[in-house]
Amino acid sequence: MSSAPELRATRPTWADIDSAAFGRNLEAVASRLPAGSRLIAVMKANAYGHGAAELSRQCTPDRVAMIAVVMLEEALELRRAKANVPILILGPLTEEQIPIAAANEFAIGVPGPEELESIVRTARDRDVRIHLKLDSGMGRMGSVEWELARVAELIRSAPRLRVDAIYTHFANSGDPTDRFTEEQSARFDTLVATLRQAGITAPLHHRANSGATMRGLVSPGEHVRVGIALYGAEALDSGVSRLEPVMRWRTEIVRLKDLPPGHAIGYGMTFVTKRPSRIATLPVGYADGYNRLLSNRGEVLIRGRRAPVVGRVSMDLVTIDVTDIPDASLGDEVVLLGRSGGETITPEEIGGKIGTISYEVLCGVSARVPRVFRDGERITVSSRFA
Ligand SMILES: *Cc1c(COP(=O)(O)O)cnc(C)c1O
Repeated sequence: MSSAPELRATRPTWADIDSAAFGRNLEAVASRLPAGSRLIAVMKANAYGHGAAELSRQCTPDRVAMIAVVMLEEALELRRAKANVPILILGPLTEEQIPIAAANEFAIGVPGPEELESIVRTARDRDVRIHLKLDSGMGRMGSVEWELARVAELIRSAPRLRVDAIYTHFANSGDPTDRFTEEQSARFDTLVATLRQAGITAPLHHRANSGATMRGLVSPGEHVRVGIALYGAEALDSGVSRLEPVMRWRTEIVRLKDLPPGHAIGYGMTFVTKRPSRIATLPVGYADGYNRLLSNRGEVLIRGRRAPVVGRVSMDLVTIDVTDIPDASLGDEVVLLGRSGGETITPEEIGGKIGTISYEVLCGVSARVPRVFRDGERITVSSRFA
């Protein structure tokens, strides 16, 4: 394994991030959009665990119209990283954060009338750009129909407030059999018409997330907000839309031992060898985001073959059974997530085993795991220990 110089003195557990693949995914999504539609790359939660500052370098103005994050802190991080496309903060923001967001010229997603009141106060002394969110059925963020009169009144009262966009969010667009997405879409159109009657319009609308975008449910001329698909994970339950995986989480065998039948392994002695067994120890654990629910359930890849996790996942260590991979050796690369030879462990596979979704698996890889970015010859390491 070739490793960056910075990695020589680190624990051999890190996440390889294929920056170039992320760039190709941006282009692949953009190329599917109808005329006039553009991509808003969703890079909240540190780009779904991948590393937002570094990956934002791929977000060139020809590829994406905008980057969306959730927190002011995330937007400021991208600004420090010199992201050179506009940044939308989906929010919510606190009252104290709103003037800071405005001063930094971030667009602010507006979840409802209360936050809009604070924004209007900020807009007394400066220009503020907002993306007005409408609740088309999800019941979470966004203004509902009976709040629109108040929303319109607030916007009309603030001459320095610019409504750059009106948008909504789908609750179940990954399920092609669910009509709710179409219902939400129609509801959004109705709410937009209601606002228009109240004198409020915007040059831009956006509604589709990964699920809707990959299903082709994109209204021409509207932007799309795509997250998970850009990272090569599944947006659809049917599993037909995967772009290139971006993260490959790997470690190495640091201890290898032969145990007789009847030997316990790990906390709680939940696994006992049934045969003469070769057990390998890996320097990764639940503190790194390798979920403890993978105890006696997970699988990892060595030399393109699968090996089962045996015993409990500890905070810092995982034990695997390599008895059936006789050539497994000390120092071998072990893939926790991603490809090895002809085998792949997807975030959906891990999520399926522990009762969650690919999103949480990717976001769960903790800050203790360095991210190693590769873009052609360029290798950069992001580590909280650097
Ligand atoms: C996270 C998020 C998205 C992206 O969703 P994906 O399913 O990852 O594409 C889009 N819009 C909003 C408001 C979000 O919070």
